[in-house]
Formats: sequence, C-alpha cells, structure tokens
Amino acid sequence: MSRLLLILALAALVAAFFLFDLDNQLTLEALKQHQADIAGFKADNPWLLAGAFFVFYVLVTALSLPGAAIMTLAAGALFGLWQGFVLVSFASTIGATLAFLVSRFLLQDAVQRRFGDKLKAINAGVARDGAFYLFSLRLVPVFPFFLINILMALTPIRATTFYWVSQLGMVAGTLVYVNAGTQLAAIDSLGGILSPGLLLSFALLGIFPFIARALVRVFQRRRVYRSWTRPRHFDRNLIVIGAGAAGLVSAYIAAAVKAKVTLVEAHKMGGDCLNTGCVPSKALIRSAKLAHQIKHADHYGLEAGAPAFSFKAVMARIHEVIRKIEPHDSIERYTKLGVEVLTGYGRLVDPWTVEIALNDGSIRRLTARSIIIAAGARPLVPELPGLERVGYLTSDTLWDEFAKREQPPRRLLVLGGGPIGCELAQSFARLGSEVTQVELADRLMAREDSDVSRLVESALTHDGVRVLTGHTALRFERRDGRKLMVAEHQGHEVEIEFDDLLLALGRGARLQGYGLEQLGIQTNRTVQTNDYLETLYPNIYAAGDVAGPYQFTHTAAHMAWYATVNALFGNLKRFRVDYSVIPWATFVAPEVARVGLNEQEAREKGIAYEVTRYGLDDLDRAIADGSDEGFIKVLTVPGKDKILGVTIAGEHAGDLIAEYVLAMKQGLGLNKILGTIHIYPTLSEANKYAAGEWKRAHAPERLLSWVGSYHDWRRGKQAGHRMQSGDDARKEVSR
Ligand SMILES: Cc1cc2nc3c(=O)[nH]c(=O)nc-3n(C[C@H](O)[C@H](O)[C@H](O)COP(=O)(O)OP(=O)(O)OC[C@H]3O[C@@H](n4cnc5c(N)ncnc54)[C@H](O)[C@@H]3O)c2cc1C
Repeated sequence: MSRLLLILALAALVAAFFLFDLDNQLTLEALKQHQADIAGFKADNPWLLAGAFFVFYVLVTALSLPGAAIMTLAAGALFGLWQGFVLVSFASTIGATLAFLVSRFLLQDAVQRRFGDKLKAINAGVARDGAFYLFSLRLVPVFPFFLINILMALTPIRATTFYWVSQLGMVAGTLVYVNAGTQLAAIDSLGGILSPGLLLSFALLGIFPFIARALVRVFQRRRVYRSWTRPRHFDRNLIVIGAGAAGLVSAYIAAAVKAKVTLVEAHKMGGDCLNTGCVPSKALIRSAKLAHQIKHADHYGLEAGAPAFSFKAVMARIHEVIRKIEPHDSIERYTKLGVEVLTGYGRLVDPWTVEIALNDGSIRRLTARSIIIAAGARPLVPELPGLERVGYLTSDTLWDEFAKREQPPRRLLVLGGGPIGCELAQSFARLGSEVTQVELADRLMAREDSDVSRLVESALTHDGVRVLTGHTALRFERRDGRKLMVAEHQGHEVEIEFDDLLLALGRGARLQGYGLEQLGIQTNRTVQTNDYLETLYPNIYAAGDVAGPYQFTHTAAHMAWYATVNALFGNLKRFRVDYSVIPWATFVAPEVARVGLNEQEAREKGIAYEVTRYGLDDLDRAIADGSDEGFIKVLTVPGKDKILGVTIAGEHAGDLIAEYVLAMKQGLGLNKILGTIHIYPTLSEANKYAAGEWKRAHAPERLLSWVGSYHDWRRGKQAGHRMQSGDDARKEVSR
C-alpha cells in the first residue's frame, strides 16, 4: 500500500513538472531570456531565491528529471562560484540520495529476489569496494547521474555511505560546471562567447573527465598497494617469469631498450612451442606428409607403396629439429643480448619481489619495478573415472614417450577434436596407426565454419582416422588387459578399445603455485588483465597463454610487446593491446587458416556480411601440384570491398593468409589485392582470384553496358543496336 502511495505521489510530481512546462524552462535559452528578471528578484529576495533554487534542484534530481546539468550552470550564473557550488553540492547529493532511497524502497527486494544468483558477484564486489566504485562513477561522469542513483540502490551499499561518497565524489565536477556557469552569465554579446574566461571554463569541462580518470587511477593504485611495502630501490627494471614465446620476446625487448631484465625459467628455454608444441608437431606433420605422399605416389605418376620407415628415426628427427632451433631460444643467446637468465622456479612474494628457487637448490630474491607473468598453459586433463588406470599421454609427454618406441602406436585414441587433436590424429594415421578421434561436439574444429569442419573431417577420414563426433567420454576401463573408453552417443554407451590414449582437450593457463593466490591477483581460466595487460597490480603484467584470450605463439609474442612497453614506459605512454587482426592456422592437410570473422562469428555478433568463395580446384598451380582441394572464403562489408575476415582451407593456407592479414591490418580492400601483381603460377594467385570473384559479383553493370554501347558506336552500329547490345551485356552479367 505504502509503495503504491509513493508511486502515485511521484507520478503526480513528475506530471506536474511537465504540465507546468518546466522542462522547457530548464534550457539555456529560457534561462538567458529570464536572466534580467531573475537578477532583479534576487536583488530583492536573495535568500528566498536561494531556498527555492535549492528545493527545486533537490526535486529535479530526486525525481530523476532532466535539467540538473543546466541548473548547475544556472547556479554559477545566478549565485557565483562559491555560493552556487555550496547550493548545488548539497542539493544534488540530497536529491541523489532521495532518488536512491526511493529506488531501494520500490525495487531492491524485487531485483535481488529475481536476479539474486546472477548478482552475487556484483553484491560481493559492492560489499567490498562499493564506496570506491561509487566514488569513481561520481568522479568520472561517464554514466548518467540519475542512473547511478537508481542502480546503486539495488546493490547492498549503505545509504549513509552513498550520501558521503556522492557528496565528495561530485565536488570536482560540480566546481567545474558551476564555474562554467559563472562565465556563461557574463556573455552579453556574440563576442563574449570567445572571452578567455569562457573558453577556459569549457576547456576545463572538456578535460575534466581525463583528469578525473587519472585521479581514479591514482586512487586505485593506492588501494591495491596499501597492504604492501614498496622497496625504495629495485634490483631490476623488469623480471619475466617464464621463457616461452611471451617471456622470451618480453626479455628481448627489455634488453634491446637497455633495461635491466631477468628472465626466470623453471623448465626448458623456449617453453611449449619449442619443446612440446608447434615445433615437434610440425616436424611430425612433415614426416607424416611424406609417408602419405609415398603411399599415394601414383597420384604423381610414380609407383605407390607402403612407406618403409623407422618410427624411432621419425621421432629422433623431431628431437633433432628441436635441437636445431634451440639456439634461437638459448640461455647463451639471451645472455649475449643482455638478459640475465636464471633457471629456477619463480614465485611472487609481493608486488615487486620474485623469489626464485634456483635449480642448484639455492634461493634468490630480486625486486623489480615491473614484473611480467608469462607462465604459459598446460594440457587439460579431465576428471574421468579410470583415466589414471589406463594411463594417458598429452602433448607434454608424447614426444619423449614415443621417442622410446620402435613402432607407432597401434591403436591410438585421440580425445578431442580441436586443432591439436586433428593435427596429431591425422599425422599418426598417416604414419600407420589405427586412430580413433572422439569429439563431444557434433563436428571437428567447432570454432571454424561448418564447411571447414566437413572438409577436415573428410580429409581425416580419407587418411584413415575414425572420427566419432557427438561422443561424450564417460569412463575408462581395463578389462582382461585391454584398455577401453566408454562413451555416450545418442543415448547409448559405446566402447572404444585402444592401446594408447592421447588427451587433446585444450590447454589451461598455469595459475597456481607461484604466488597469484597470495597476492589476490584475479584469475578466471586465465590471469585477468585490463586492456594494457596489467593485472590487479598495475606493475604486474601478464602475456601469452597464461593471459589468453588466444593461445598461439605469435599472439604470445604480440602481447609481450604491449606488456613490455607498458611495463617499462607506461608512466609516459600506455598502449592498449590490439586484437583486431589476429590470424591463426591449423596444420592439418589441407591446412586451415583464418583471420578476422568467419560466418558463424559474424552471425553471432549480428554483423552483416557478404561471402565470396574461390575454389582451389580452379587454380593452375594447385592443379599442377595435385593439391587442388579447398577454398578461400572472404567475408566483406555488404556492397564494399572492406574485408571482415578470411578463411582459407588448402595447401599452405597458413602462408597464403598473410596477404589478407596485411590487407586487414593496413585497411586495404579486395580491389587493392586485385590490383597487385601475383606471380604465375603460384598458390598466392588464389588470393587475387578470390578478389576477382568479388569484383565480378560487383561489376558496374550500367557502366559496362555504356562501354558496350561505346564499342558498338566505334564499330559504326546504330543506336537501336547499341541499346540491344547493352541489354545483352546486362543479362550476361546478371546470369
Ligand atoms: C601440440 C601443440 C601444437 C601447437 N602448435 C602451434 C602452432 O602451430 N602455432 C602456434 O602459434 N601455436 C601453437 N601451439 C601453442 C603455442 O605452443 C603456445 O601458444 C605458446 O607456446 C605460448 O607461449 P607462452 O610463452 O605463453 O607459454 P609457454 O610456451 O607455455 O611458456 C611458459 C614457460 O613458463 C615456464 N614457467 C611456468 N611457471 C613458471 C614459474 N613459476 N617460474 C619459472 N618458469 C615458469 C614454463 O616452464 C614454460 O617454459 C601449440 C601448442 C601445442 C601444445
């Protein structure tokens, strides 16, 4: 009942506001018109005017009516800077608190009841840091004033806290606005608009949000560091934890700009990519490709046969490749570049100190102004019954384990249909293993479009992989010495027998055991960072797989640049990490490479697009090479040549995509690709032909028909004939 009465009273007040046309009175022009009358009234009744203004301001803000900003300017014009400031400061805070109380009374219970679960994190955040959030919102006027009043009321923040934080948080903004108002009052001619005082006031209005944001940053920094004692001097400018792609690039850049940098690596220099990831997998893929070509040599007019090879030699070659690349990432190289490399396990002790348990058993503590976490990721291992009993391999362990073997695994079960699972399943199948690949989703490589998934599944199946999509692994069993996986498929249990099990279920960021928990650095699958790759502590950064959102060597290196430049020079200029043009490739045969959007992402994001397809079965070089399987698919803005994304499925797709990456990065459209000479006969011509397909579909039909008419005329034909030819041309293009 009381709620209903309150709603009726509020509705009546709002209706009265509009009924008396007060919204139209609260404009700069109206106030300017009445300036002289108001000034006269003020001279006779100064306190009455101040009181009425105060009450009216409270009402406007309490009822969330439009006009508070104009009234703040008016306060400056009518009462001058200090009196205007005091009036507005209290009236706005009281009004805001009334709006807050009304919203709380009417809505809080209902909202919390309805969305309580979803609001848990927000409630906890507000309970912990509500005053600070509110202070930031008040200081940086990004969100409308009235929305903050209404929405904060729905959270558990106390009304008294709301009042005093609002009062304090709005001081700076109020002063700037009231000051601008004092200058507005002084305008009595057009020339007055250009008075230095007014220009300065407006400049202040403009830069105020930036100043406020900088202030918020200072407050934030103070808050996060308040329970730590900052060292007076630092041993290093930068300490980098982890020497994978992200860590190596970070240390390299830091040393190149003469910073004192220490790189800490617990295991092997080069991280996953060199030792257990990209390098060994690509070396394996190369051997498997050759075995495949020998087996299908008749496609090239040669005699086909079962490839004769020693699996041990194949695995030995993989390790040889790693050894050959190792010097690029070695301690010697980095030491020469000016990096101090320590081999040991690094742990964050406080925001500036890393304790390193060195591999020789000693412990060392170093302080640094900035720290970059580049601890990478590790393969995910599911909690499935019986898994430990049957034993399993991951990308971390398979290279050493298989290096001991004389023969490839006889029956290999690959769990996971993502890029790593597909690359390894196809390679081992090509080397003679009986491979079964099991995927939960209804298709392989589910991040790509379904036409890509179909192509990959068909290629894998063709190479002998038994692909089981839509299968959910339930448990593992050992029966009479046999190893089995039981999976669920369409409501039935399916048993799959295997000799070796390879888990390829994705990789999770390394988040435990090196101090993130103790420092309270937030994690949610990855280390949480802002756009500058700063963690909760602005001097601790994260880059590479540990921070995501992509898990590639080149993105790790890309992030490392931002993390390092921000870590070393962020006090001068910070750079937001740019994820706008990120390419990647999966090295199955045919390769799949992508940059930007594919169709499914464009649909999910509601982005309009046009598709242009070019089939590689049309490309001379691909036909000559016997690799004419696949396509290029370009998504463009409808009616324009601006590229939204490209997917290439085909031989060397990972190399071919580079041209589109450059085009997207530099804002070049398909017309520019079409106008670029590509060497004949190369696979790269496919990029130009795809652009040509787009051009053909967007041919300027009317213009072409006129050109046709021009040629007719040049041949001396009649106008009637010309029109006829023009019509034919139109028909041809539209066919
Ligand atoms: C089978 C496979 C194939 C892949 N193929 C490709 C590919 O073709 N192309 C591609 O771009 N990407 C590929 N990747 C992904 C690529 O390997 C990773 O994205 C890349 O290695 C990430 O680099 P990083 O520096 O973030 O982490 P990592 O390379 O994992 O390096 C992190 C390092 O930190 C060290 N470390 C962790 N914690 C500590 C600590 N507390 N103290 C000291 N040191 C610590 C670790 O020992 C590790 O060396 C592949 C991955 C796998 C598994």
